Amino acid sequence: MAVPKSKITKSRRNMRRAHDSLVPGNPAECANCGELKRPHHVCGACGHYAEREVVAQADELDLDDDAA
Ligand SMILES: [Zn+2]
Repeated sequence: MAVPKSKITKSRRNMRRAHDSLVPGNPAECANCGELKRPHHVCGACGHYAEREVVAQADELDLDDDAA
């Protein structure tokens, strides 16, 4: 088992942790519905990407009886 050679001081530990904070994302507005979405990702609200629908939404699908 690896054993630390010497104690990490509070100062060095805290200096290491200075960069540990979470940074907020960079949300972009969906061109179709205006919902905030992750950039370069399909919109989770309407399923559009680059102003065209790429993922059909469940509430918009009209499934007829023999499709199931
Ligand atoms: Zn959208």
